[in-house]
Amino acid sequence: MKNLLLTGTAGFIGSNFVPYFLEKYKDYVLINLDLLTYAGRLENLKECQNNPRFKFIRGDICNQELVQFLFEEYNIQGVIHFAAESHVDNSIKNPEIFIQTNINGTFNLLNIAYKHWMKKPFVYKEKYQNCRFHHISTDEVYGTLGECGFFTENTPYAPNSPYSASKASSDMLVRSYHETYGLNTIITNCSNNYGPKQHDEKLIPTIIRNALAGNKIPIYGDGKNIRDWLYVLDHCKGIDLAFHDGRSGHTYNIGGRNERTNLQIAYKVCELLDQYRPKDISYKAQIAFVEDRAGHDRRYAIDASKIENKLGWKADENFDTGIIKTVEWYLKKYE
Ligand code: NAD
Repeated sequence: MKNLLLTGTAGFIGSNFVPYFLEKYKDYVLINLDLLTYAGRLENLKECQNNPRFKFIRGDICNQELVQFLFEEYNIQGVIHFAAESHVDNSIKNPEIFIQTNINGTFNLLNIAYKHWMKKPFVYKEKYQNCRFHHISTDEVYGTLGECGFFTENTPYAPNSPYSASKASSDMLVRSYHETYGLNTIITNCSNNYGPKQHDEKLIPTIIRNALAGNKIPIYGDGKNIRDWLYVLDHCKGIDLAFHDGRSGHTYNIGGRNERTNLQIAYKVCELLDQYRPKDISYKAQIAFVEDRAGHDRRYAIDASKIENKLGWKADENFDTGIIKTVEWYLKKYE
């Protein structure tokens, strides 16, 4: 048995990852550390709670004493770090907590992993050889694209929001622990995820919730901002591959090759709702354009060739299949 520390797993992506990972790897015990901020819900992990290889601890990744205790108590032999403040709009209103959690929290985890696993730079302690620190990051660190082109692992960082700047900073800290101390690190930078268990504040749950409630469906600006949408389980499979087979110190971009404008997303969701819950007029009539987000990046698109070619990753869902599963899940949640 090997004990891994997973952070932020009561949130959207982590809570999709944990059941998948527990089921696939029977020799891992997963120690889950999550502060249960407004974005985390224990309910998201209810299918894992009776599994003896699942342990949940409510706590802050910034708490040095606690994280140190967990490394010692559970003899942690790997980290997969999801915890973050993740909503761009909140980072525009209250950037401080993003700096605290995303930068200081990542630093705290890195520093404790280094001290726990290694004797000195580039020398691992005998029993911790190959212990790996996997940092989950975002394509937003690369900034915004024009009408063409894709983000690759070599695209220079140009974060535009306090959220993406805090994630870019945390990526740089991870890089520095590899370059300076020889820590066995992996970074994955993923595009926009969608699927079950996402917080109500994010785009697709917002569209579905407001549509069903008969409210306006708010779409920023002209609705033409483009994101590259990936079904959350495909992201989890990419993390799994990179954690196990990725090259130490490397970064892997994960993305769906499913570019859509926000308006296309709203139309697609409304069309599905028109089929599942028909009304006299289409839900599309509820779409309303609202004042744009400050500094709203225009287009993100990932070139996932590296993880596809080097690790054999491939998305199993395309947007048309993934969105059906997603809408069905939220219909159950909201009704
Ligand atoms: P989320 O906001 O749904 O969940 C974040 C989780 O972290 C919550 O459970 C929260 O309680 C926990 N958390 C926050 N602060 C904490 C702290 N100080 N200590 C311990 N736990 C804390 O986020 P998500 O969408 O699941 O994203 C997970 C990771 O993936 C993040 O690092 C995010 O930057 C990255 N990411 C997300 C997307 C996406 O589309 N959602 C895309 C690419 C990358």
